[in-house]
Amino acid sequence: MLRLDYQILRTDISGMPLEWISYQEAVRLYYLEEVAYACGRLLYRIRGGINAKTGRRSIIELNSIIATQGSVQASMKSHAAYVPPLNNKALFRRDDNFCLYCGQRFPDSQLSRDHVTPLSRGGQDTWNNVVAACKPCNSYKGNRRPEECGLQLLAVPFTPTHAEYVFLQGRRILADQMEFLRAHFPRRSPLRERLRGLLADARGSGDAA
Ligand SMILES: [Zn+2]
Repeated sequence: MLRLDYQILRTDISGMPLEWISYQEAVRLYYLEEVAYACGRLLYRIRGGINAKTGRRSIIELNSIIATQGSVQASMKSHAAYVPPLNNKALFRRDDNFCLYCGQRFPDSQLSRDHVTPLSRGGQDTWNNVVAACKPCNSYKGNRRPEECGLQLLAVPFTPTHAEYVFLQGRRILADQMEFLRAHFPRRSPLRERLRGLLADARGSGDAA
């Protein structure tokens, strides 16, 4: 048995990734009979109550990925026009904790959200106009565009799809969950290459990320 803090990837009925849920939430979905099917590997065996007729204890088996009955929310999130909410945690993970100006890696606490075109110059607070930047680079850049102060972006900022966003929000993502998410990434997703490296690590240790 694994530790109980792995998260379970919940998908809609068509297999579109929706969100991470705890094992308690997964058990609740089983009792509500909202789980359509499971895939991925067996994560937990949870003991339930004892059946009054048979005297047997019920057991719920939880897999790393479960598909649940459809909802309006699910179909909205799989829509091409869906834009996930912008927040620093997901933004820093999108940029793999690199400052996109000096190319060094930093913990979240030393990064900031830089607006490539500053807000004061008409730039917007949207995924395509923000990058992770260390605080010194951000303050050096100040109220200027990168080309006005000799800075060059090391990668092009992009808006994650919902599947990419689910990946960016995950913690301790298991190898089979990564494979599953990657299959839903756009073909040109910049996150594909990174996942390849994570998967190579995961095959050694059983999990990663
Ligand atoms: Zn920097």
